[in-house]
Amino acid sequence: MGTTVTITVVAASEPAAGPALDAAFAEVAAMERMFSSYRTDSDLSRLNALAGQGPQPVPAPFAELVAAARDTAALTGGAFNPMLGPAIKLWGIPENPAVPDAAALDALRPLLDPAGITVDVAGARVTLARPGMALGLGGIAKGFTADRVQALLRGMGVGAGIVAVAGDIRVWGTRPDGTPWRIGVRDPDGGHKPRARLALTAGAVSTSGDYERFFELDGVRYHHILDPRTLFPARGVRSVTVLAPTGTRADGLATALFVMGVADGLALVETLPGVEALYIAENGAVTTSAGWPGT
Ligand code: ADP
Ligand code: MG
Repeated sequence: MGTTVTITVVAASEPAAGPALDAAFAEVAAMERMFSSYRTDSDLSRLNALAGQGPQPVPAPFAELVAAARDTAALTGGAFNPMLGPAIKLWGIPENPAVPDAAALDALRPLLDPAGITVDVAGARVTLARPGMALGLGGIAKGFTADRVQALLRGMGVGAGIVAVAGDIRVWGTRPDGTPWRIGVRDPDGGHKPRARLALTAGAVSTSGDYERFFELDGVRYHHILDPRTLFPARGVRSVTVLAPTGTRADGLATALFVMGVADGLALVETLPGVEALYIAENGAVTTSAGWPGT
């Protein structure tokens, strides 16, 4: 998935933790085989190659994540759009980024319709309606992976830990001394001091920012989160950090809230139980939802 995964578990001894960590990283590898857009042999790449050719069988977790992506798109009024694949490709994200021709981007619009995806979760089948359509799960798969690894570890009897798939983090239980896990919200300008701090014993935290994957041209920063309305990088936000019960939800919402901007994003968050958000705007201003747990 083009990123770093860090897993911390609490166990009676270091050798006791070994098998759990081995199983956890095997699960990460299994998720990468499903969702990676970097690999031509992933289930995602194979599905995209069969766009427009009817329902395709996929692994059960794949269908589950596609359903979650579809639900996130509906919940966010299309700010999250898992069908932006062809536009992301035209931007050359991440390998060869370049500003595409606006007309060429516009011509892709019929392929980017979120209604072009159909998922049958019980039957584990996904349909992409038209040739040329391409599903992209980069905005939600890392949170889902954190959830899967956490569920696996819990199932193996690991009572506490923290799974971080880049900026998509799932926590459970406490540190060995009984205190909560501590997570810092990074300064988008790269300063060493976190801009906010969280203390958690359950749930997930995801951050979407413009500072991880981007390129600059003529003094303009182009990053990897596209506003589906303009098909250009979303503007106005440096980063948004979302707290939610699961990583899947936190990750998908972080991407969507980045696109929606501070006012619309926080209005949505206030309607969602168990979800809080912290924005750092382009001018550096920090704004949080009403229930944000503070420093
Ligand atoms: P990161 O990958 O840095 O954790 P995100 O979770 O926000 O950040 O995911 C960004 C990725 O999601 C992009 O690289 C792209 O593949 C995809 N993406 C870009 N814009 C959108 C969007 N509006 N909706 C859904 N996915 C998007
Ligand atoms: Mg995301």
